[in-house]
Amino acid sequence: MFQPAKRCESIQLSEIRKMFDLNLEDAINLSLGEPDFDTPYHIREAVKIALDEGFTHYTPNKGILELREAISSKLDRENGVKADPESIIVTVGASEALHIALQAIVNRGDEVLIPDPGFLSYDPCVKLAEGRMVPVELQEENEFRMTAENVLDNITDKTKAIILNSPANPTGSVMKKEDIKGISEIAEDKGIFLISDEIYEKIIYEGKHHSPGKYTDNAITINGFSKTYAMTGFRIGYVAAKQEIIEEMIKIHQYNAACASSLSQIAGLEALNGPQNCVAEMLNEFRKRRDLVVKRLNEMGISLKKPKGAFYVFPKVQNSVKFVNESIKKGVIIVNGSGFGKCGENHFRISYATSYDKLVEAMNKLETIKI
Ligand code: PMP
Repeated sequence: MFQPAKRCESIQLSEIRKMFDLNLEDAINLSLGEPDFDTPYHIREAVKIALDEGFTHYTPNKGILELREAISSKLDRENGVKADPESIIVTVGASEALHIALQAIVNRGDEVLIPDPGFLSYDPCVKLAEGRMVPVELQEENEFRMTAENVLDNITDKTKAIILNSPANPTGSVMKKEDIKGISEIAEDKGIFLISDEIYEKIIYEGKHHSPGKYTDNAITINGFSKTYAMTGFRIGYVAAKQEIIEEMIKIHQYNAACASSLSQIAGLEALNGPQNCVAEMLNEFRKRRDLVVKRLNEMGISLKKPKGAFYVFPKVQNSVKFVNESIKKGVIIVNGSGFGKCGENHFRISYATSYDKLVEAMNKLETIKI
């Protein structure tokens, strides 16, 4: 009988994918964090031209220089993060960036702090790097924001890294500048890495995004194009860090992906250098959807504040397993909060990255569930 490798045994397939794969006919699927918009036209056009010009070969492992230059100036201009093109790797989505960052810095038994509730790739990626995941319990009363105190409570002499995610999946919470700064100071002081997953950076309705890379050289900044430019299928992202860390990460990237897709790199370049009004238009649409979903859930007696970022709501109900099952029976696929960590129990996640009309229809169905 086939015996899987030990490292696979402790890894489960993602709850969200399982939900998404249910593919129930006529169901409204609010389980996946995927913008429903088409990739903006000018980005698709740039890819078509590159394809016709035969830009279909391997690129340098770190990615094409023009794109790394564009990322470098974006990070400097918008985030106050100094990273020259040699300190940047273009990756197969933010997903790969996360994976190679952990592979490059974590030794067996090292502890990595992750938000709980938090994005469900963090735990398996830490496990695959043979690290030990330490949940940082986030409080609903505190809008699920990670604070410097939360972090300090969980640091030991084995702590190697802390994963930050603001705006956050699954809660939509946005960290405060003082906490980002405070955690950066802790990281500097104790020689801990900060892996900052900034994939929802531009999907922010209130407040401002702050990058720890502005405050500490120990930051590993991860970002991508999936959410901001509706480019999930292109599988393109990037990571920026001190060059000595990047030179280790590139070893994993080289023997894993070799390089990100050439055409997707062209798409990323156009996304960064082209007009940005598409980003504002999508954000406006997300805001309308957020307001609708929050209002309707509140009217159902599910109390919830408006999240400040990303495109998720994460409300509490008495019995979320029952609620999710009832919801699926009514034809609305949502995800149980326990998949995002222990502190996600008795919550559920709705992704509102789907059309307004479908959301109205979904809310009409959810309204008929007896809570
Ligand atoms: N980080 C977070 C918090 C996410 O929600 C996602 C996508 N769901 C990713 C990273 C991965 O994004 P990508 O498509 O760039 O791999």
